[in-house]
Amino acid sequence: MFALKPSLVQTKIYENGSRKALGGKKNARFFAKASIENDDVKVVVYSAHEYERKYLTESVLNVFGGSRSKLVTARLTEETVDLSIGCNVACCFVNDDLSESVLKRLRENGVEAIMLRCAGFDRVCVETAKELGIEVYRVPRYDPESISDMAIALIMALNRKIVISHDRVKVGNFMLDGLVGFRMRGKTIGILGTGKIGRGLSQAMVHGFGMRCLGYDKYPDKEGFAGTYVDTIDELIEQSDVISLHLPLNEETKHVINENTIKKMKKGAMLINTSRGGLLNIKEVILGLRNGSIGSLGIDVYETEEKIFAIDFSKLTIEEKMIYWDDTFAQLSSLPQVIVTPHQAFLTHDALEEISKTTKENIEAFAKRDVANGSQNGNRIC
Ligand code: NAD
Repeated sequence: MFALKPSLVQTKIYENGSRKALGGKKNARFFAKASIENDDVKVVVYSAHEYERKYLTESVLNVFGGSRSKLVTARLTEETVDLSIGCNVACCFVNDDLSESVLKRLRENGVEAIMLRCAGFDRVCVETAKELGIEVYRVPRYDPESISDMAIALIMALNRKIVISHDRVKVGNFMLDGLVGFRMRGKTIGILGTGKIGRGLSQAMVHGFGMRCLGYDKYPDKEGFAGTYVDTIDELIEQSDVISLHLPLNEETKHVINENTIKKMKKGAMLINTSRGGLLNIKEVILGLRNGSIGSLGIDVYETEEKIFAIDFSKLTIEEKMIYWDDTFAQLSSLPQVIVTPHQAFLTHDALEEISKTTKENIEAFAKRDVANGSQNGNRIC
């Protein structure tokens, strides 16, 4: 499979973006500590795809001046950062680049606040944002059931071989060989990370499916977790038929599933990751799948997904596809016991509504300099 390098895509993005409409850098405004009016807020919304334009129009364009603020389809990168010229707020999504160099360019362009439309902020260089005085807000909670539902969809599709069976029927093959699954009741699910999403999943698996549920969390004993806590990740991994990851990605959790942890898995266990791709050492996971240590894998996230997801490669020539080919992803997605979805767990009307509502509130908190409000509810990161 292929992963785009910046040059090709970003040329296209620029062709689609209206650079002419933007003001020069000298128009950038640097606000003092005093509060500002909604009328003074100018937002550039990056990665604004068709599926959320309706919500973003209602929550951002209609509130913060349709003509001043704008939605752009482009992902935020070094090449597209100047689409922010003339704006004091950049509204970003999971795969937008908020590294040190991009943050510095945003600040030069007059951006004072980043509004993430997601919970995870692993792509934000928070230290640089602090140094530059850029405020960073996020949406820490939005319809967690949308994500836990997706984990369940992956579990059920893998268990009952729905994708394989569907493909067979489409070509007129109605044979059942190779489609045998397992009954959920009585099996053990291990949930790594019992926060909002992990807890929702525990409720559904215990009360809905009758599974035994184990949980591991750095800060355990969370109210609403329907299973039993274990003391170590190893204990959870050794006992689980299905392992589902609901951890944030950080230094401690990076590649938490690796050769060593895979060795401890029950032979043939199912692994689900709807959190962040970097939780898996994907090359070691592929080896585990090939030697049968891991029975099946369902992922909604991939470590270098920003080079693949939210992009349509179907119109590229074969030569272009060869330039951007990602061997690891090609191998992974071709394995019959693997299902990959392109980071769509959040993609429900309910979640999109909540994301856009909180984003609007975050922009208003920034405009009013309502520091306390943003910090107290966990929305403001810095
Ligand atoms: P949350 O903050 O409510 O829960 C995370 C849990 O992980 C917490 O209970 C925390 O104590 C625990 N934890 C943190 N570090 C740990 C460590 N080192 N070891 C063990 N436990 C640790 O987050 P959430 O809302 O449940 O979301 C979980 C993850 O799901 C997010 O971080 C995000 O990356 C991902 N997510 C994905 C999508 C999607 O569309 N695929 C959508 C939303 C969230």
